[in-house]
Amino acid sequence: MYGYRYGFFGFDPTYLLLIIGMLLSLAASAKMKSTFATYKKIRSASGLTGAETAQRVLRAAGITDVQVVPISGSLTDHYDPRTKKVCLSEDVYNRTSLAAVGVAAHECGHAVQHAVNYAPLNLRSAIVPVANIGSTLSWPLFLAGLIFSIRPLLTVGIVLFSLAVLFQLITLPVEFNASSRALQMLGSTGILGVEENAGARKVLTAAALTYVAALAASILQLLRLIILAGGRNRD
Ligand SMILES: [Zn+2]
Repeated sequence: MYGYRYGFFGFDPTYLLLIIGMLLSLAASAKMKSTFATYKKIRSASGLTGAETAQRVLRAAGITDVQVVPISGSLTDHYDPRTKKVCLSEDVYNRTSLAAVGVAAHECGHAVQHAVNYAPLNLRSAIVPVANIGSTLSWPLFLAGLIFSIRPLLTVGIVLFSLAVLFQLITLPVEFNASSRALQMLGSTGILGVEENAGARKVLTAAALTYVAALAASILQLLRLIILAGGRNRD
């Protein structure tokens, strides 16, 4: 039997924390999609594609060992520090929209972070393996602890989940910093004018908000685990 004491006609009130987190994530993702949809339609005055933008921005930053390559999918853009590649999706690589230019410059922002040894990026890369283990094993261990009443497993589950939350927390400065580098470089290279830059800023801010929402949802999940473990420990 499901034993925890919060059951009231079978409803676990801590589900509310999950629902709030889910709604935050949905709202952030809806906001991002609508902002992208708007700025995908606005062509930049320079007429540069995402790929050309990335190449110019990298050159201006003095980076010569990073490749710009196309990848499949939508919103799959990223910088890969292992292969030193700025990977741009179909909507970005060959497009000249403000959204494409903004995203391309953002990924170059990560390449610059890598080149200058930006500490939060290094820290984030260092904890990726631990965070992956944490997010994979935390729930199974926690559930086993709950079902078989093994308290140490509850604690291990919570600690592992905290590592995944920590990863998301460190992601925030990395993402915001990449965007601010991007906007600064787009301005200083003259790729975007002042008004265009404001549009690119909206795109990048909307993208960053999805990371904030994901973190908030994870913190709520962590809180839920702590409440469930606390309820079990009192039994
Ligand atoms: Zn990023």
